[in-house]
Amino acid sequence: MASPKYGRLKNFVGGEFIAVDGRSMPIISPLDGTLLAEMPCSSAADLDKAVKAARQAFPAWSKTPIKERVQVFFRYRHLLETHMQELAALVSEENGKTLGEAVAEIEKCVELTEFATSLPQLVTGEVLEVSKGVECRTEHPPLGIVASIVPFNFPAMVPNWTMPNAMALGNCMIIKPSEKVPLSLSRLAALLQEAGLPEGVFNIVNGDKEIVEAICDHPGIEAVSFVGSTKVAKLVYQRATHNLKRCLALGGAKNHLLVMPDAKPEMTAQNVAASMSGCAGQRCMAASAMVGVGDVDHIIQRICEEARRIIPGRNLGAVINAESKERIERYITEAEQQGARVLVDGRGATVPGKEKGTYVGPTVIDGVRPDMAVAREEIFGPVISIMRVDTLDEALAIENANPYGNAASVFTQNGGYARYVIDHASAGMVGVNVGVPVPREPFSFGGWNESKFGVGDITGKSSIEFWTRLKKSTIKWNPEAGINWMS
Ligand code: NAD
Repeated sequence: MASPKYGRLKNFVGGEFIAVDGRSMPIISPLDGTLLAEMPCSSAADLDKAVKAARQAFPAWSKTPIKERVQVFFRYRHLLETHMQELAALVSEENGKTLGEAVAEIEKCVELTEFATSLPQLVTGEVLEVSKGVECRTEHPPLGIVASIVPFNFPAMVPNWTMPNAMALGNCMIIKPSEKVPLSLSRLAALLQEAGLPEGVFNIVNGDKEIVEAICDHPGIEAVSFVGSTKVAKLVYQRATHNLKRCLALGGAKNHLLVMPDAKPEMTAQNVAASMSGCAGQRCMAASAMVGVGDVDHIIQRICEEARRIIPGRNLGAVINAESKERIERYITEAEQQGARVLVDGRGATVPGKEKGTYVGPTVIDGVRPDMAVAREEIFGPVISIMRVDTLDEALAIENANPYGNAASVFTQNGGYARYVIDHASAGMVGVNVGVPVPREPFSFGGWNESKFGVGDITGKSSIEFWTRLKKSTIKWNPEAGINWMS
């Protein structure tokens, strides 16, 4: 067997890449099956080393004024830009997305870092003379050592949802990459170091389930953020909060696009096709179900035309692995057997010269009933399941009945319909004529229902509350002010 292209990965602890012995897992490129690396499965003892390194770094880092701390992130932002192509190539190689999508992912990391550099303007605290000579003030000190557990679908962006904000606010961080895509994060660690981040402030512990459980149990970790499937989000939220840690756990999604007959056909078709197929459908904001209200045949026809222009290996990346490809194709076959019509069929896709790649072509399924698995469950592939109803209320009833609640969008030219959907969709992020309604900074990212457990959102202004605690002081320096009503 060929030796891995990037060798055996190391953990990043206390500013050094350190070797980890024992069990490992292969990292295989979904693009063409190349063996990229061996990822060590760290133990609870390896995590403990990272917590100790972070604890050592915390006093100096947390006492560094925030205006100085963010200087690191100004430099990191610049390094992300100058290493854009190299980082994007690595993201594409390990995750399977197209190079263009990977560049967009790094651009988003730049935007997230820009937000972190603006934090000094947002955490100024408040002060008020609450009684004669007595002032109350608030500050936002950091929590201490915090952890971030991330999924495979955005090897660079999702880690950057948490890293710049948590550290700029004065915390020291331990991150556990997805065991499917751990390479990009090591490269980001090197860039953070080059940007001047002091040793121990940022640490990577590679591993699988065992490390997630150890993070939830470690008494030295104050807060845990998680992004991944709902099944694991629930486990992590329960375990971390059982151990009295602060936790925010983002889960899976089943996002609905409601298409009204007055929607602009071309724009709607382009948006629906791009939303369901971007990153091979492996986005928690991807359109997975469409509910057509009334006569939308002309729009569905255009969606099929758009989908046929999306070609695996050209403008469509691979899905993460063979298991995922099989799962997605099984969903399509099951829907077909239950009477749905597969208008565009992505099963059995191959890319010449990349026969070991794991590709699924764009798939449009019409005539789906709300009780079918393709209508209810997260598929995480380039598949859209179309249901038909007569009224907007029926469409909203289908959207509302789904246990998830990340995103929902409506396509219409009618402002009244648009407002009605914003008011009645049971989702944290709603779009009007937008296929992927991700809020841009400084607005925050977070779903509802089974798409998120915990209070607040993971990015933007809302994340400040998660990564800090509020200190309230009541101060009187002038005894001559006497005793006022509450002094
Ligand atoms: P996953 O839940 O399988 O894995 C996420 C993390 O949990 C990984 O680091 C993994 O090592 C760990 N993990 C896996 N099984 C575990 C277990 N039994 N116990 C403890 N830890 C475990 O998710 P994934 O397949 O990597 O990512 C895809 C999922 O993530 C999709 O459901 C997608 O919707 C979701 N996602 C959600 C958002 C969001 O913002 N809500 C964003 C991105 C991805």
